[in-house]
Amino acid sequence: MSIADILAHASDATEWQEVLYKDLHQHPELSMAEERTRGVIAEKLREFPGVEVLELGGGIVGILRNGAGATVLERADFDALPIVEDTGLEYAATGEAMHACGHDAHVTGLLGATEALAKATDAWSGTFIALFQPGEETAEGAQSMVEAGLTDTIPTPDVALGQHIFIDENAPAGTVLIAPGPVLSTATSLTVTVFGHGSHGSMPHLSVDPVVLASSIVLRLQTVVSREVDPHEFAVLTVGAVQAGTKANIIPDSATLRINIRAYDENIRAQIVEAIHRIIEAECQAAMSPREPEFVQSDNYPLTVNDKDATEKVRAQLIDVLGGDSVLDMEPWTASEDFSRIPDAFGAPYCFWGFGGRTDGASIPNHNPRFAPELQPTLNTATQALIAAAYAYLGN
Ligand SMILES: [Zn+2]
Ligand SMILES: [Zn+2]
Repeated sequence: MSIADILAHASDATEWQEVLYKDLHQHPELSMAEERTRGVIAEKLREFPGVEVLELGGGIVGILRNGAGATVLERADFDALPIVEDTGLEYAATGEAMHACGHDAHVTGLLGATEALAKATDAWSGTFIALFQPGEETAEGAQSMVEAGLTDTIPTPDVALGQHIFIDENAPAGTVLIAPGPVLSTATSLTVTVFGHGSHGSMPHLSVDPVVLASSIVLRLQTVVSREVDPHEFAVLTVGAVQAGTKANIIPDSATLRINIRAYDENIRAQIVEAIHRIIEAECQAAMSPREPEFVQSDNYPLTVNDKDATEKVRAQLIDVLGGDSVLDMEPWTASEDFSRIPDAFGAPYCFWGFGGRTDGASIPNHNPRFAPELQPTLNTATQALIAAAYAYLGN
């Protein structure tokens, strides 16, 4: 018995996986409100022979105990985003939410890998843990499972593994990207409310205009990365939303800015947060704002740093299964993940890799309303990569 016996079961799964993927895609749910999705995952896991199913912290864990050997945890996230889909797919979501980050593909891949391992227990030994996590997009889900007692509930993994889909012309569907060391940045979001003094649009001299104040802040914030952060350091600052006012002839009372930052170094992250506070407070003072601005910090993502040994082991097995031409080097991404909170809670090493979603040379960023992976070879690659990575530890 070998990995080929496990992979044979994975190819049998292709049909139900495509049906399940389309169903998840058509029924996206927002972070920490994924009730239906959770039900679909639990029901599917219960169909597989020998899988213990647990629910905790809004997530689901399937455990396969198969004799002596290593314990491997593989994780998939399952939340969607508040985006109206514009893919034109026949299975497109029609509401206010969308799987624009491809977490539906992550779930489908991990369910397929779990089934294949459950049906080919002669080909491996040890313990396999399939962990399905809610709320990745708000950095709440991994923390929620840890706080619900994850480390006391499931066996301690020797390694934790995860993957993310993306659509990039340089890494078509069928390929994976992997590298040791830091691969995903930290992230933080800030929601800032600045205050003005409302007035009729024809009487600006009687107002403190928060629209002008917010505009000035947006421009000044562009200097944080370009003028304050060391050019050798990685940093991103994006103002993703500015909200104020209702009508052309009303000067509103307040404005809200939503700011997102990325950094590979905790000190750089702190430097940027400090600069945001300083600039906004000073701009408010310059505008004669009647109240101190309010800051709410959220979406705090940790750094993702792949373990060197785990990455070598997984990479070798990926090359074995997918072929050397399909295993590419991963450059550090500007994106972020809360995946590492799970291995960090156990003190376990981890490896996180990327996989492609299209073969037609398209590049579409995640979180775009037209984010549309091709079903195949994407789903098969997602499944095979998880089987290969688990087998690197569980193979006989
Ligand atoms: Zn995302
Ligand atoms: Zn994502």
